[in-house]
Amino acid sequence: MKFADLILPVAVGDLYTYSIPQEMQSKIFIGMRCKVSFGPSKTYIGLIRHLHDEEPKEYKVKPIKELIDESPLYSEKQLKFNDWISQYYMCTYGDAFKAALPASMRGEEETYKPKLEKCVRLAKDFSEEELAQTSDKLSLGRSRAQEKLFLAYLNLSQISFQEKPKEVKQNDLLRVANVSSSVLKALCNKKILQVYSEEVSRIPKFEGETQDLYKLSESQEEAYKSIKNQFEDKDTVLLYGVTSSGKTEVYTHLINDTLKEGKQVLYLLPEIALTSQLTERLQSFFGKDLTVYHSKFSSQERVEVWKKMQSKNPYPIVLGARSSIFLPFNNLGLIIIDEEHETSYKQQSPAPRYHARDAALVLAKRLGAKCLLGSATPSIESAHNSQTGKYGMVKLEKRYSNVELPEIILADTLEARKRNSMKASFTPLLYTSIKESLEKGKQILLFQNRRGYASFVKCDSCGEPLKCKHCDISLTYHKFSNKLICHHCGFTQDMAHQCPNCDSNELSIHGLGTEKIEEQVAKLFPKSVCKRMDLDTAGTKNKIDTIIEDFQNHKIDILIGTQMISKGLDFDNVSVVGVMNADSIINFPDFRAYERAYQLLAQVAGRAGRRGERGKVIIQTSEIENPIFSYVINNDFNRMYYYQVKERKEFVYPPFYRMIEIIVSSKNESSSNSAAKVLALQLKQLFGIRISGPFDPLLHKVNNKYYKHIILKIEPQASISKAKRILLDTVNNLKHQKGRSQISIRFNVDPQ
Ligand code: ADP
Ligand code: ZN
Ligand code: ZN
Repeated sequence: MKFADLILPVAVGDLYTYSIPQEMQSKIFIGMRCKVSFGPSKTYIGLIRHLHDEEPKEYKVKPIKELIDESPLYSEKQLKFNDWISQYYMCTYGDAFKAALPASMRGEEETYKPKLEKCVRLAKDFSEEELAQTSDKLSLGRSRAQEKLFLAYLNLSQISFQEKPKEVKQNDLLRVANVSSSVLKALCNKKILQVYSEEVSRIPKFEGETQDLYKLSESQEEAYKSIKNQFEDKDTVLLYGVTSSGKTEVYTHLINDTLKEGKQVLYLLPEIALTSQLTERLQSFFGKDLTVYHSKFSSQERVEVWKKMQSKNPYPIVLGARSSIFLPFNNLGLIIIDEEHETSYKQQSPAPRYHARDAALVLAKRLGAKCLLGSATPSIESAHNSQTGKYGMVKLEKRYSNVELPEIILADTLEARKRNSMKASFTPLLYTSIKESLEKGKQILLFQNRRGYASFVKCDSCGEPLKCKHCDISLTYHKFSNKLICHHCGFTQDMAHQCPNCDSNELSIHGLGTEKIEEQVAKLFPKSVCKRMDLDTAGTKNKIDTIIEDFQNHKIDILIGTQMISKGLDFDNVSVVGVMNADSIINFPDFRAYERAYQLLAQVAGRAGRRGERGKVIIQTSEIENPIFSYVINNDFNRMYYYQVKERKEFVYPPFYRMIEIIVSSKNESSSNSAAKVLALQLKQLFGIRISGPFDPLLHKVNNKYYKHIILKIEPQASISKAKRILLDTVNNLKHQKGRSQISIRFNVDPQ
């Protein structure tokens, strides 16, 4: 073949054709990377997508400069999956390429360098006799240190003449022998030892012993069998199991079966905060067979996992966040999507704005793998898909060893305020429960979905809240640093003492953040140890892990946190879970608000009383009559589902209609407004009532950019790909109009 169509990491959607130099023609295959020049001066790394003999007529092609890989990075099936991502989520091939490959493999960062470590070996092949002689000589000599070092080497290398000696790292050797490096130098000069460099892995290896899988309980065994049964004629099964029913245990048995068939498993998690607890748990069964993969890995670490996945013996199990769906699996048998209802599976920015759950289902289909979705609070979409028979469905309705589900009690803040019986932000009920629980040596989780000290600072004179300069949103007061911070763009300023609108000095602090709760707990329960886990205190993976570990080891009595503490964590001594303020959760202006509120509350509640005694959950709210609470209290997913589905159907929302959000933005408010207006008008002519908007999104100004949204809703019978084509054409035409070059228009398919 003489020509290659490449995917390049650029913002335009098409493939780019280059010619293949003669000498490359026998070595080039689809799925390899190569270097090409682009425009007048740039060099890019591209991925070869098609090979052909058709010379483009419109322009003169440039030759490929250099071929990077000796074998394809991706199989045709996976390339097709990447194509699907860009088509379905309406982004460029380049965007999907960027999501799929670590930056250093795309040439955008320092290239991958293997990590080298100094090791020590014998300077030559000693015979047994020579070795003994050397040992004697050293012991007679004057240097005790040299003898010590030599013996330490023999020990560490476990030298025997039947097998290759073990690899001995220089650092380990010097540490064990407890001598300086000059001693090692002396033995090297005497031609006894030798230092050499060895390529080592950056990915920590599992060192411990593995154990057998736990025996499944009767109901778990039933669920396990039923899943296998349903996999016979369904590609996807939803495991709906209450919190702490042992879904993870069921997964381990399915993983084990898949490995036995010689196939790979991808275990997806919505959030990397959860990986450590789970990694430990899975490694105790599967040891070195498991690797972790997520965005907190350095680019170099990611390349290592990539290379290993491509090698002849790839990792059998990958535990990862959403980006792991792009790893080069060559023999995938099962994808587990844990906590499938989680919105963090959807990538918000940058493009591709893909939903890892939905994309994983497509990947599984293409690679011939099965998919298991797991949740205690399934998404309406997945529940609907199992109801209509598209997915299989298995239930686990009891907690493991029949621990009762926690008792959920509402605490009426309105009433408590009237009676003046609140202690700071705590109702008498929550306060007493915490007190009793502390006395029994139990632990407590307190949940508040807002970090910082207070939600906002308001001017009492003109009533205006203090807003971010760059976004249309209130600043959050952080007491410890005495700063006002914008949680959207990160803008930070010192606490203000004057209203920027009216210069009044009467500013007051409102709302309740995690930091303020921490302060109140310290006052109300001075003897307890209290910690906070949110983005401010646990910005890094290590800090998260430390807090979780400390809580597990009961070094912390009361843990206060945001969303971070609501999910998946498995603690065994929590007797009380408090939701500080549920009002803000149920009043979120979004068609999914109720579904989300149910999920969030049920998940937080699920952290209570996972072993032994029944746990207690106290939800503080001023709206105790709201029906959502009765669903949560009675663990009545079905009723919540029934009413939600009815509403979604009536108001034409997913899962009955598909949604595409069209996001228009510009630094200039009036150009953003006018472009959105014109676009909506044109789209209405094409799509009729399926188009609504333009309107201001919840955040209409972020980072000095002004946003407008237009929504397209498409009925199930219509062709979604045709709709997308029309949409793209219309938008491209608009972009080419005069004066619209500063406008950015993006798509968000299946917005969450
Ligand atoms: P889920 O994922 O459904 O929330 P987990 O799998 O975390 O539930 O199980 C809850 C707890 O019960 C875990 O600590 C787990 O080790 C334990 N457990 C569940 N099933 C078994 C079993 N068959 N044998 C031993 N322990 C189990
Ligand atoms: Zn004012
Ligand atoms: Zn801001």
